[in-house]
Amino acid sequence: SFPLSQTITLPSGQTYEQPTGLFINGEFVRSTQHKTFEVLNPSTEEEICHVAEAREEDVNLAVEAAYKAFHSEWSQCDPAIRGKYLLNLADLLEANKETLAAIESLDNGKALASAQGDVGLVINYLRYCAGWADKLTGKVIDTGSNYFNYIKREPIGVCGQIIPWNFPLLMWSWKIGPALAAGNTVVLKTAESTPLSALYAAKLVQEAGIPKGVVNIVSGFGKITGEAISTHPKIKKLAFTGSTATGKHIMKAAADSNLKKVTLELGGKSPNIVFNDADIKKAVQNLILGIFYNSGEVCCAGSRVFIQEGVYDQVIEEFKNAAEHLKVGNPFEEGVFQGAQTSQQQLTKILGYVEKGKSEGATLVTGGERLGNKGYFIKPTIFADVKPDMHIYSEEIFGPFAVVTKFKTADEVIELANDSEYGLAAGIHTTSIDTATYVANNLEAGTVWINTYNDFHSGMPFGGFKQSGIGREMGEQAFENYTQWKAVRIAI
Ligand code: NAD
Repeated sequence: SFPLSQTITLPSGQTYEQPTGLFINGEFVRSTQHKTFEVLNPSTEEEICHVAEAREEDVNLAVEAAYKAFHSEWSQCDPAIRGKYLLNLADLLEANKETLAAIESLDNGKALASAQGDVGLVINYLRYCAGWADKLTGKVIDTGSNYFNYIKREPIGVCGQIIPWNFPLLMWSWKIGPALAAGNTVVLKTAESTPLSALYAAKLVQEAGIPKGVVNIVSGFGKITGEAISTHPKIKKLAFTGSTATGKHIMKAAADSNLKKVTLELGGKSPNIVFNDADIKKAVQNLILGIFYNSGEVCCAGSRVFIQEGVYDQVIEEFKNAAEHLKVGNPFEEGVFQGAQTSQQQLTKILGYVEKGKSEGATLVTGGERLGNKGYFIKPTIFADVKPDMHIYSEEIFGPFAVVTKFKTADEVIELANDSEYGLAAGIHTTSIDTATYVANNLEAGTVWINTYNDFHSGMPFGGFKQSGIGREMGEQAFENYTQWKAVRIAI
């Protein structure tokens, strides 16, 4: 019968035990229908292992476990205890950080250095959430001496959480951290192409002593496992990260089943703007980081680059040179900045957009080709002279693919930047505080980075304007998604 763990050899030669079952009620188990699916290494196109696939029955078991755990000690205990469990988990993640980063690179294809960065953010974020656990306080509201009124925050219940493949472990932490700290329990579905790091982390959840049923991890596919979560009547809250199309579908499913509270972190086509007065060297570094970091598979990637006319040619030249000097390839090789795209499907989609860009009349500055014929590698790609009516300008490509457009004035670039269905993030590069604040205040974006990019901190909320999402993750604001206010009014 299907093994519940498998010994995997990492490219470094080191071996580790990869859990392969579903994590339900504190244990790794087989799927009730004995379903499994294959996990591929996108850098070699070879199989890594098989993992158990959750179907509706398995999701039901996970929800039952989470429901029981919610109604027993987890939602009722001193919140400081929940904080301590999260700190234990963060310590275990830290002790296993090298293995976790290697798993992430193996499974997703991202450069090892990027994966190491992700794991660092995960550890920080869980510690941040642990700190909030016993600080989610209520208030006394004075309405005159005949009444005593207080308001308090309560957890919501069992949370369904569905995450994508671009930051598997980081998205896991953004989901479970605030949910657990606030006293909820979770049933989390990983993306079908990247289930491994969350299963390894589930082993650490066990070791951290987190009571059984508080965290349940169900690997599986969107249309089966994902649907079972988004339509489940006992799940009271749904948190989703992924594409805008799936987000809309999930919101309808959540409404039709039991009007679950929904938060969505969706796609983007974020502007990254360089003004004439910018520190050009630094701006170019941020353009590179904006679009080529994590192989461009970043929801807030600075994929629409706007350059002011006075420095247009110079910035394009430097951007091109820097892109051509990036080391692309085996994610485990020293100095590699950009690894593989996560799947054949993504590679094909990106190369399709290269053809679209050419046929739409944009200028291919660099890249636009697959690299080698094994593994899903693509050269960092830049198109210039891109016009707003082109598909490559408006659609999310989700790869190392920048489109560059020239602009004259701040007002013109604000209009161009805001002319998008998305509004996740934006970058501004200027040495003028007036320009920086004027443009930042007028951009429709959940995050604005000035003279930096893709720069996250646990304390800063992240989420989208417009069709980039609903609700915020990280920061104090994340707890708004995982608590509900109760108002108690006592006539004295
Ligand atoms: P996707 O929407 O296809 O999949 C995301 C997750 O949803 C996966 O776990 C998938 O299995 C699941 N899913 C798919 N169909 C489902 C359904 N019918 N019911 C329930 N679950 C379902 O997206 P993707 O292509 O895998 O991920 C890339 C997208 O995610 C990009 O558009 C990107 O911008 C977005 N993203 C956004 C953020 C953010 O924070 N805003 C972060 C990462 C990725």
